Amino acid sequence: MAKKYKNKINKIRSFALALIFIGFVIMYGAIFFRENQILVLIFMTLGLLCIIGSTVVYGWIGLLSTRAVQVVCPNCNRHTKVLGRVDMCMYCNEPLTLDPSLEGKDFDESYNRGKK
Ligand SMILES: [Zn+2]
Repeated sequence: MAKKYKNKINKIRSFALALIFIGFVIMYGAIFFRENQILVLIFMTLGLLCIIGSTVVYGWIGLLSTRAVQVVCPNCNRHTKVLGRVDMCMYCNEPLTLDPSLEGKDFDESYNRGKK
């Protein structure tokens, strides 16, 4: 129920970072199977795919960033990027909206404000 919302761009970025990490771990794992060339090849390919995937995700973030609207967060006064109609502040997770009709509505049910 208390699902935690995060800034979309930040979320995708941490996913891309995790992919790089997983890719390197998988490639490192290949060392333990160096006796079996086929396994090494599979691990190396999987690791490489993760890293390539991460590069693609990073490129996608770049594309999304150009479409995101830069706003000043009313809560922490820092510049953050809003993607779509509603998004969270990158720094303080304050819910932000570009649509005045959604002001204070969309996140109230699921966003845990009482945490402060
Ligand atoms: Zn903020």
